[in-house]
Amino acid sequence: MMKTLLPTSTAGSLPKPLWLAQPETLWSPWKLEGDELIHGKQDALRLSLQEQQYAGIDIVSDGEQTRQHFVTTFIENLNGVDFEKRETVRIRNRYDASVPTVVGPVSRQKPVFVEDAKFLRQQTTQPIKWALPGPMTMIDTLYDDHYKSREKLAWEFAKILNEEAKELEAAGVDIIQFDEPAFNVFFEEVNAWGIACLERAIEGLKCETVVHICYGYGIKANTDWKKTLGSEWRQYEEVFPKLQESNIDIISLECHNSHVPMELLELIRGKKVMVGAIDVAKHRIETPEEVANTLRNALQYVDADKLYPCTNCGMAPLPREVATGKLNALAAGAEIVRQELRAV
Ligand SMILES: [Zn+2]
Repeated sequence: MMKTLLPTSTAGSLPKPLWLAQPETLWSPWKLEGDELIHGKQDALRLSLQEQQYAGIDIVSDGEQTRQHFVTTFIENLNGVDFEKRETVRIRNRYDASVPTVVGPVSRQKPVFVEDAKFLRQQTTQPIKWALPGPMTMIDTLYDDHYKSREKLAWEFAKILNEEAKELEAAGVDIIQFDEPAFNVFFEEVNAWGIACLERAIEGLKCETVVHICYGYGIKANTDWKKTLGSEWRQYEEVFPKLQESNIDIISLECHNSHVPMELLELIRGKKVMVGAIDVAKHRIETPEEVANTLRNALQYVDADKLYPCTNCGMAPLPREVATGKLNALAAGAEIVRQELRAV
């Protein structure tokens, strides 16, 4: 699909303008309501798109301007989940959170992001990518008082995600991404049924599909967890062999400034890889040369026509000027490596 060599994109979220939501705050509540909120989100989407375009990003997104939380905003639009009835659970074995309860069969009330995706499609002729939560990450943010089976609930979510994904594809989305940070934690379940659920979610799609597996935003719960992982992060090793055999087209990974040994990418040889070359947990802006170095390292294990330079994760919690600087660095770093590849 992509004719550009090393097409750049972001893992997802970008900072919101301060008139829409409090900056540098994750999951910040909206500052507008009603019609003002609808127009505010659309204007923020336009700005976010423009910042990506000015930076020279090849595959653009809505910068997640239309959602508050990458999982909850989707679940809010489903039947069967009671947001008033809350229980405290441990998220990804890492931190406690008060979460809504599954009280009955889950189903989609109406399309969730389809109108937003149509709006983005109208704004640009560039390839567009849209992110959805993955089934396993969805079940991990809920208390299940109905199915009482993680696998069963994940399977139901996979069917719902498939309905949404098919409508996003029809709306002109070129790449649909599923965010599955839970794939970095529950290895046995990922291999037993997590990847199968993801394949159910993409069933019948003709557009490209991505699974994004990261070590999370630069929030304290995540940075504390990272300190316990030792000097070499080999989590990806547990799920790569089965992902390599899956129908997912692209795998989006954290590769820059992390302790992930780059040679693990050999385990998914043949897949397209969105290589995270921007650290989202630090405010320091990478130089284009640093980005280029990460991409050169990845090229040892990923064929050039399958390498998609990307960010490690979303940039929503960063100051806007930092995120913009990082977008510029990503595009400039990719261009350095493109020229090297063309010179060979
Ligand atoms: Zn991420």
